[in-house]
Amino acid sequence: MEKKIFYAPVNHPRCGDDLEHPWKYAVPAYRAAPHVWNVGGQDDVCAYLLDTGEGLILIDTGYRASLYLLIDRIYSIGYRPQDIKKILISHWHWDHVNGCAALQALSGAEVWISKEDEVYHQRFKDDTRDLPMVDYTATHFYDDNIPITLGRFTIHTVLTPGHTPGSTSFRFEDTDEETGRTYRCAMHGGIGVGLMTPEMLERFGGHVEDAYRFVDDCENKLANWDVDLPLPSHLNQGNVLPNIPEDKSDYSVWIAGYAWKDSMLSRAEAVKQMYPEVYGK
Ligand SMILES: [Zn+2]
Repeated sequence: MEKKIFYAPVNHPRCGDDLEHPWKYAVPAYRAAPHVWNVGGQDDVCAYLLDTGEGLILIDTGYRASLYLLIDRIYSIGYRPQDIKKILISHWHWDHVNGCAALQALSGAEVWISKEDEVYHQRFKDDTRDLPMVDYTATHFYDDNIPITLGRFTIHTVLTPGHTPGSTSFRFEDTDEETGRTYRCAMHGGIGVGLMTPEMLERFGGHVEDAYRFVDDCENKLANWDVDLPLPSHLNQGNVLPNIPEDKSDYSVWIAGYAWKDSMLSRAEAVKQMYPEVYGK
């Protein structure tokens, strides 16, 4: 079987800063699942818009500089940013949260993050010298025992520390009314393993135990999830760019039952190689 959708490690040169010249990296909205579109608008970080039938949910909000693209992409597929009811943040980093304040002001949406990452949001929010953070107000915190529901969606959250102490993963089902088929969708909230080296954990106040926890979660919990439609949080995590179809509403190209497990196990392996004293060579 040819594997089109896989983790394609790319050292993204713009992840360390807010995005410069976003128009150079513009990407159209494309449908990722029956009622889910990636409206991130650029070729780095994703922002998933869920049409619940009773308002919109947005998972992650992209960079400050690419916010205009995100808003344009929402309109381009016939929705209005004012109709966002809930914003779900995967983890505290700038590339996922910097559009949040403006979208919150525009829509009055709830803003959800883990309690664990809210600590880091508060610690780094004013650090605009070293980190390009844009502050926003979290209004709700995840409780993994209580799914987030709106309209047709029931979203289960799972704390998956490692990339940050509070990285949160999402899983939910989405049914295509035209075919009657239901797809299991999931997004890992932080599989950028570069931040799990001892040096990077030190820099951002992370914990080495979280790197071990990441490995354990990926291998023993997440890899066992049955996922039809993996939703990468960055485009390179799903080899997305070369596969965006001519028909942007054709989500069938992303149906890849092998991809989720492959991705979880390969990311766990990458972290294990950082800690040979723990995992062997
Ligand atoms: Zn991150």
